[in-house]
Amino acid sequence: MKFTQLILLFSLTVFQGFAQAPSFNFTKSEVEANLKYIASDELGGRRTGSVGEQKAAQFIAKSLRDYGVRTAPGYENYFQNVPFANILPPTSGEFVIGKESFKIGDNLLIINGKDIDKSLEVVFAGNGWVDETSGLDDYKGLDVKGKIVVVVTGLPDANSPMDVFNSMKRKQELAAERGALALIETYKIALPWPFALNYFGKERMELSKPADPNNSIVYGWALEKTPGTLSPNLNSSKTTAQLKIKAGPVQQIQASNVIGIIEGTDENLRNEYILLSAHHDHVGIGKQGGAAFTPQDSIFNGARDNGIGTVALMAAAKHLAANPPKRSVLILACTAEEMGMLGSSWYAENPAVPLENTVFNLNTDGAGYNSTAHFNVIGKGLTNVDDELEAAGKAAGLAMLGDPAPEQNLYERSDNISFAAKGIPAVDFAPGITEMGEEVFKYYHQAADNADSINYDYLLKFCEAYTLAALKIANKTGKIEWTKEGEKYRK
Ligand SMILES: [Zn+2]
Repeated sequence: MKFTQLILLFSLTVFQGFAQAPSFNFTKSEVEANLKYIASDELGGRRTGSVGEQKAAQFIAKSLRDYGVRTAPGYENYFQNVPFANILPPTSGEFVIGKESFKIGDNLLIINGKDIDKSLEVVFAGNGWVDETSGLDDYKGLDVKGKIVVVVTGLPDANSPMDVFNSMKRKQELAAERGALALIETYKIALPWPFALNYFGKERMELSKPADPNNSIVYGWALEKTPGTLSPNLNSSKTTAQLKIKAGPVQQIQASNVIGIIEGTDENLRNEYILLSAHHDHVGIGKQGGAAFTPQDSIFNGARDNGIGTVALMAAAKHLAANPPKRSVLILACTAEEMGMLGSSWYAENPAVPLENTVFNLNTDGAGYNSTAHFNVIGKGLTNVDDELEAAGKAAGLAMLGDPAPEQNLYERSDNISFAAKGIPAVDFAPGITEMGEEVFKYYHQAADNADSINYDYLLKFCEAYTLAALKIANKTGKIEWTKEGEKYRK
């Protein structure tokens, strides 16, 4: 072997050695600076619709432009406006039936209200449920048009708090479809009444949509002081009640999803999109008297939730814009995750590229971390990209874990569910949690979730792992799909 060949061989080996270790076009100081801005007091906890949240969206959009990420087809800029209605529950009102009076603030909670002041006939309708498969119909033979329907919370065989919460919307629809003016549920939930008042009686945000007649009934819960007052055993077959509600004010609010596109390099695959998502909103500023309020710090900076995810999304956008993969990539920084994944649901109803071309969603959001050696895939096993995810983590020095708390239903508690519900294979890529313990709850939705408590070596690794995962999935050979375990989401 000649000397020149030896040199050539040596340099090839060196070159390959370098090529194998992934390199990125973002640095630790850059991801650190991004997180420190996103989680700064200036952004005020990024509550949906707030000035601070708008600043976060603008910062992300400006960064996408700097990275060379393009706007979506038909979009003038990187923003997708999402309209919200901020709804304050009624603060006064009364439901008087027979001798019993139910008052707002005491034993009556009106969750959906409109102005009403009428004496109306009352119809009792079991649980107010209709199930076509089992043939159950609590409305069978009843005329509820223009009347108040009184039912019991939950379903005949299912009245855990979750069952109750999951049935609320459908019950209102069932009553409204039949022409009822109000639906009052007798409160029979194994949760203290003050919890219900606190949780469902606070202001909330909904996506603004054209007036929906099914949403326009008065709906609430009444707590019986004397058991049986609100039961169908009332002697009179024709009971009337007085219902007087003054609806709370509704405020229209705008917020933004931030959307960008990186076009794929493979002409056969470029029509397929990998959707990378992270929510940029958080919960804002704590109120005096609120559970997590402290006089020292009332700003919920959300460095972990979801500053880390937002920064990881930005890092991936920067790297992929300079190193585009075979498939195209859609960057989506969502608003209003904390309001119930409303920004991602809005996107799923108003996509910038057709959902049928969106082949995978790699969301990144988390509650925090207690391990700097790991990342978690919420939805591990559900799709056929676990190998890519695991390899990406390994290359960045992080080991992959699955869902740290299956009983908490985390898969359905972040933006990935908005896409999974449309049949798009989706997972959530989250910072490392080996157990849901003190180290996580110390920061989760607390004012303590600040940028100064973040391990920035870990943040860099996490950003690298997420970026590589996106790259590997976008370059994956063959179809990306649900596994048998994830089949229930297949459409
Ligand atoms: Zn959160």
